Amino acid sequence: MRVLITGGAGFIGSHLAQACLERGDEVYIIDDLSTGSLKNIKPLQENTAYKGRFFATIDSILNQDAMLELTGICDVVFHLAAAVGVRYILENPLVSIKVNIQGTEKVLEMCAKFKKKVLIASSSEVYGKHLHAPLREDDNIIYGPSSKSRWSYAASKLMDEFTALAYHRTKGLPVIITRLFNTVGPRQTGAYGMVIPRFVSQALRNSPLTVYGDGKQTRTFTYVKDVVWALQQLMDSEDAVGQVFNVGGTEEITIWDLAERVIRETGASSEIETIPYEKAFEKDFEDMQRRVPCIEKIHGCIGFKPRTDLTTIIRSVIDDRRKAAI
Ligand code: UDP
Repeated sequence: MRVLITGGAGFIGSHLAQACLERGDEVYIIDDLSTGSLKNIKPLQENTAYKGRFFATIDSILNQDAMLELTGICDVVFHLAAAVGVRYILENPLVSIKVNIQGTEKVLEMCAKFKKKVLIASSSEVYGKHLHAPLREDDNIIYGPSSKSRWSYAASKLMDEFTALAYHRTKGLPVIITRLFNTVGPRQTGAYGMVIPRFVSQALRNSPLTVYGDGKQTRTFTYVKDVVWALQQLMDSEDAVGQVFNVGGTEEITIWDLAERVIRETGASSEIETIPYEKAFEKDFEDMQRRVPCIEKIHGCIGFKPRTDLTTIIRSVIDDRRKAAI
């Protein structure tokens, strides 16, 4: 199969590219390297087993000519290109909205033109500031005001979902929407916020671990290879078409406890330092206090269950950060 992955030089995209290459696909990626990196795809370009089967285009998904050519060549499209990370969104609000809304519209337009099946990577952010758990795909959503940039990411991802579903309903385009919860693993950097690589890097330097707020906010974390498996299975499933799926873990942990776990696993002498949200981000910043997915729907469709526990996830990031430091 010929697979196009937008955002293929990013953290999740490069793992997906590798998994597709491993199963014998011909893989095309497009990435503008805004948050992706050539380092992520170098091993794929250099692996002789993938010779003649891996093609990288460094360009924006907003470039019509590049997207026309790539979508025309490929059988299916995984659309992962997006502005990601709370810090990145706050620092680049306009770029984020443009890439997320116009970029997805462009991808859908191309897929409709060539009648190609497309999987859209949405985000657990779309749920907004819910306090209940677990979050179900058909739950209502609650956002803060438009004066708070943070919610622009949630709103832009939600708009992507509406647009994809509208293409499905009006043009019969086969679309699948995935709401990815916090995904973690090797190659993820803490540069755009992501808490586990940040904590691990801080611990490996024996520096204080920076917990934002009081640390009582919770998350669940999913291993990137489990997520990639789910994306491939959903793409291969006819039943998934026209549907929205949570993809996430079930082991809920407070950020404070996470910091303690990282200190224990690294054997660091670090302390935990709490930083008020207004210092970490901006005045009146609103965090999501709780974010736990219901995964009944995806389990029913493709049998997905997270296979990698949190300790294994943390250890894999520690290994990766140690190797990166050598
Ligand atoms: N966080 C933290 N310290 C950090 C980075 C993040 O306490 O150095 C917190 C952040 O405020 C959030 C959680 O960790 O409550 C997860 O943050 P991340 O940016 O990884 O993902 P989010 O769930 O916010 O998309």
